[in-house]
Amino acid sequence: MPKMFAQVILPLSLHDAYTYEVPLNMQPAIQPGQRVVVQFGPKKFYAALVVSVSDEKPEGFQAKEIVQLLDESPVVLPQNLGLWRWMASYYCCSLGDIFRAALPPGLKLESKSKIFLTGNDDEQQVSEKEQLIINQLQDISTVEILQKKLGSRFSYPALQKLLNNNVVQVEEKISSKYKPKTEIFVKLHPEVGTEKQLHEKITSLERAKKQKALLLHFSEKTNAFGEKSQKEISKKELFKGTDFNSAHLNELHKKKILKKFEQPVSRILESEQKQVDINLLNKFQEIALAEVKSIFSKKDVALIHGITASGKTEIYIHLIDEALKSGEQVLYLVPEIALTTQIVQRLKNVFGPKVGIYHSRLNNQERVEIWEKVLQFRQNRDKGYQVILGARSSLFMPFSNLGLVIVDEEHENSFKQFDPAPRYNARDMAVVLGIQNKAKVLLGSATPSFESYFNAKTGKYGLVNLDKRHSNIELPEVMIIDLKRVWKRKQMHSVLSHELFELMNTAISKGEQVILFQNRRGYSPYVQCFNCGWIPKCQNCDVSLTYHKYKKRLNCHYCGFSQPVSNECPECGSPDIKTRGFGTEKIEDELKPLFPGARIDRMDLDTTRSKNAFSRIVHNLESRKTDILIGTQMVTKGLDFEHVSVVGILNADNLINFPDFRAHERAYQLISQVSGRAGRKHNRGKVIVQTSQPEHPLIEIIRKQDYQEAFQSQMEERKLFKYPPFYRLIKLVVKHKNPENVNRFANQLATNLRHNSSLIVLGPEFPLVSRIQLWYQKEIWLKVSRKFSPGEVKNFIINNIDTVKHLKDNSSCVVNIDVDPG
Ligand code: ADP
Ligand code: ZN
Ligand code: ZN
Repeated sequence: MPKMFAQVILPLSLHDAYTYEVPLNMQPAIQPGQRVVVQFGPKKFYAALVVSVSDEKPEGFQAKEIVQLLDESPVVLPQNLGLWRWMASYYCCSLGDIFRAALPPGLKLESKSKIFLTGNDDEQQVSEKEQLIINQLQDISTVEILQKKLGSRFSYPALQKLLNNNVVQVEEKISSKYKPKTEIFVKLHPEVGTEKQLHEKITSLERAKKQKALLLHFSEKTNAFGEKSQKEISKKELFKGTDFNSAHLNELHKKKILKKFEQPVSRILESEQKQVDINLLNKFQEIALAEVKSIFSKKDVALIHGITASGKTEIYIHLIDEALKSGEQVLYLVPEIALTTQIVQRLKNVFGPKVGIYHSRLNNQERVEIWEKVLQFRQNRDKGYQVILGARSSLFMPFSNLGLVIVDEEHENSFKQFDPAPRYNARDMAVVLGIQNKAKVLLGSATPSFESYFNAKTGKYGLVNLDKRHSNIELPEVMIIDLKRVWKRKQMHSVLSHELFELMNTAISKGEQVILFQNRRGYSPYVQCFNCGWIPKCQNCDVSLTYHKYKKRLNCHYCGFSQPVSNECPECGSPDIKTRGFGTEKIEDELKPLFPGARIDRMDLDTTRSKNAFSRIVHNLESRKTDILIGTQMVTKGLDFEHVSVVGILNADNLINFPDFRAHERAYQLISQVSGRAGRKHNRGKVIVQTSQPEHPLIEIIRKQDYQEAFQSQMEERKLFKYPPFYRLIKLVVKHKNPENVNRFANQLATNLRHNSSLIVLGPEFPLVSRIQLWYQKEIWLKVSRKFSPGEVKNFIINNIDTVKHLKDNSSCVVNIDVDPG
């Protein structure tokens, strides 16, 4: 037989695929998309992914053999790999980075792979060195531990031989971490094959009353030999509501009347609820849907700009329905799955078990199971998942026949992964995925990202407008309150202007609800000594600590460091330490006496850490058990409540003044989105925006709710200053624990990059927070013309970083590359 070679991707930050030889016995079975165990470097084993197989012998080196084949069939399909390659190139990262991001943890073999004896060691002749290893392997161990224990007596070839002879195995994560859940089922014994035989058996049980009753109960439950009879039933269901027990069943099993057996069941609880009909669209939605379809006949991507509560979700549901009917799979991306319990419910209601939900809050087993059910669709369309509703990592699901990709709330920043690499934007990758799979892509938002809107305006995407709320109610009225004026007149009620306070009182007295937005969590952003001005800072990061009253501690929101609050100032000894500023926790505290009797709830990172906390808060608001909800960004994300009539933005200043070229875009989006929670079903809502800069041009745009103007005014600036969408931005972050190393490296890198005159290089500069978790950092920003291809840009950047890394004392600096930073 000719030799065969496989190219594999390792889960390491390596830019290329590596070639291994396929042992003869694996040749018939090996396919791209399967995982294999390979050795990389002198000592380590990894689960790698086969990307191609050929008989071409690699030149210039001796390829090592693949150690083990982990999958019977591919877990990644060839058509899924196109996205991997594109991402590695565009985001300047390695295929290994993508591999690590793409597969659920249950399908990855970690570097410290465990090895164990298979029990096949008796029949085989082993060498002395091999025996040494076997002796050490009485328990599962890792290669690393083996080496430690045996020292120089450890022989890698001996271990390899044991692996080849199947005396030793590498733990397969898929079978060890992922164990299918099983249940006991019951069916008639094959010897009871006719109705007559069944009756004979029933008669034979005359003296075993309980067993006879159980057998009768079984025949009734399964309708044995009747119409629509069911062959098997789970023991749990059979026993439900009865007093039969396992002893009765075991007797019948022994007598060869019933047969017990085990079989896998799904861990994912399929809701048993009845499916409901899809809503009919209103006439505006009808038109929008027709427009989307007409765009799809000419273009790959459409953007729906539909105001809040216009019913974008209903349009998505109609499109999904059509895709399903033509046998295609659908990916529905949402920014954060935890925040979208309402959409999950709406999709489950209409599409039932065809919908799978995928996100990182699921455990390993669940994630692997969903992965497999997407794969399964290829073979069995009735059993596999046809729709995946998920967060950004669902881009990598093994779709075999993708027809439609929807990106809901496409402007959301949480589509962007910050850390680790790949630092990708799932909205942009959804477009790439769609085009690669010849699927249509629909982006939707009430406040589209300026990049997407620009693409729509310039004809790259089709644009559909939907500017009527389903209820036909106008968008809320936005009122601007000048905080300086209110302060001067001493008309503040804690953080509430008199106007907001009054509106809230009226609303609550009518049984309506209020949402208040503040973009700081915790009690107060910082504490300060009123005598000397001392402010406690994090010992690892360059930021002040946030006071959390409930825990009576000061916390760092960057690294999690926490310390108790001291009673006196460590600098001057004064006991006069006070909290400054308002976080959501403090606002909740201060509102209680202002609205006695009102039911106040809070939604932020601190109150939603546990698994179901978020749904509980949403549920309480839906069922009108909450009158006032205070929250951070979380309250802005697509929630749909009927009875919210007032929304308050407590301080717009820090949104507007944030030092980032996207600050105005973000501020506009955030404020319109929270505002959009008001007055969705019954009467026009009211929004109060408190600011000390009422004369700021953006505030006027916010008051008018004029998206077009917000977009236009920013486009002029961005063009002038060469920002996206006109230029691509790339942020390089140089990191080291020693600030001198950071400085030297960053300066050398910036100097080298500046040799390329077609590139605009800014920095290096310390960012707002220049030290995080003991690492100092400096940033270099690149503005890159769109005429360069992503591949060219990647090569240029990586080569420059490599060159600087090779200079004296530089190798320990880390450089993160962030393309299209969020
Ligand atoms: P959006 O996603 O644009 O913010 P939603 O799809 O959440 O809007 O719709 C807002 C509310 O109006 C939801 O409660 C939704 O169920 C309801 N709604 C929208 N369109 C329809 C329709 N055609 N039939 C019935 N209810 C609708
Ligand atoms: Zn002091
Ligand atoms: Zn910190």
